[in-house]
Amino acid sequence: MDRFISAVSRTFHGERKINDRRKYQASGAILAFIHLFFVWLFHEVDVSFLLVYNIIIVLFYSVITIITGVVYRYTHIFIATFVEVLLHSSLASFLLGWDWGFMTYTLGLVPLSFYIAYTVPHFNRKIKIPIIASAIVFIIYIITRQYCVHSGAILHPRVSSEFINRVFLFNIMLTFCFLWAVALLFSLEVYYMQNHLQSENTSLEQLANYDPLTKLMNRRSMDIYLRDAVENAAKKDEEFCLIMADIDDFKQVNDTYGHAAGDEVLKEVAKIIAGNVREEDCVCRWGGEEILILVRAGLDVAESVADRICKDIAAARIEAEGVKLAVTMTLGVAGYVRGDTVDSITERADKNLYTGKRHGKNQVVK
Ligand code: GH3
Ligand code: MG
Ligand code: MG
Repeated sequence: MDRFISAVSRTFHGERKINDRRKYQASGAILAFIHLFFVWLFHEVDVSFLLVYNIIIVLFYSVITIITGVVYRYTHIFIATFVEVLLHSSLASFLLGWDWGFMTYTLGLVPLSFYIAYTVPHFNRKIKIPIIASAIVFIIYIITRQYCVHSGAILHPRVSSEFINRVFLFNIMLTFCFLWAVALLFSLEVYYMQNHLQSENTSLEQLANYDPLTKLMNRRSMDIYLRDAVENAAKKDEEFCLIMADIDDFKQVNDTYGHAAGDEVLKEVAKIIAGNVREEDCVCRWGGEEILILVRAGLDVAESVADRICKDIAAARIEAEGVKLAVTMTLGVAGYVRGDTVDSITERADKNLYTGKRHGKNQVVK
């Protein structure tokens, strides 16, 4: 029971896809039950033609309820149901007259045909199917109405007008329930689809803009921030610096402890760096073990950020593959100067980095 309540609640919150098979089975069972009621009704009012018709239809929907569990091609079932509702409504109206309200059911076929065209894969969201189906419903509705008004009922069961009114109210009530159910199903399925698309978009965005190992921005998305920073520096004098950081002797870490240990080191280094910059700064995985940091401040601030990172990394003991590893980093800092492009400032940071590498590594060069 708890599982059922949680499934319903998740469905209403757009978190759970409605199970198609269950949905069709439930519809078949409900339709069989409604026609069972009509079997009783037409037996009461002694209209044998509709009585026999409804017995056949109860069997039809019972079989559908059973086979929808096995057969996954719902197309023919839907067409048969559509024809059946249309046929039953107009036949009952032709035979008994308009006042019984049997034609109201046909109104429900309009949203139903749109719902089916857009949710049953086989119909492939072809808009012309529900438009044609709705036009057929409309034409039959008008013909039946005109016939009932001008020619009157064929059969005249001996029942009071109050009885007819009750049947009318019952029919209109069921039609409302039907319209409500189709609208609700449509809303829930759209809700689920929206949620689903949103989470797909988020993961695609993650995949396109972030490095899966370090969870840092990738070079492609960093490029946008770099261009922006250069543009703002040129136009609005907003200063910024770049720090190019590279793990020292990383090849040796891989060779000694294995690639998996190297990956762990990279992840940890990324975490330490990300923890040392402010929210408005950007950190990206520039290449293999090279990390580029965009600091939105002047050279002094950027240098102190680089110093802090350098010290924190050297002090860290990174647990990987059962051993505690110590690594160091060399960092090159470059501040924006008028006329700089993304390439020129990146190159300067890179040059400073390699000066640091040549001068013993584990240091900051500006
Ligand atoms: P230096 O101090 O001069 O930077 O020496 P280094 O060994 O760090 O530099 P080198 O360029 O010779 O080697 C970089 C290594 O980084 C080689 C490559 O296998 C490794 N590497 C690059 N990307 C990854 C990765 O995603 N995971 C792991 N484990 N290793 C990586
Ligand atoms: Mg290196
Ligand atoms: Mg390198």
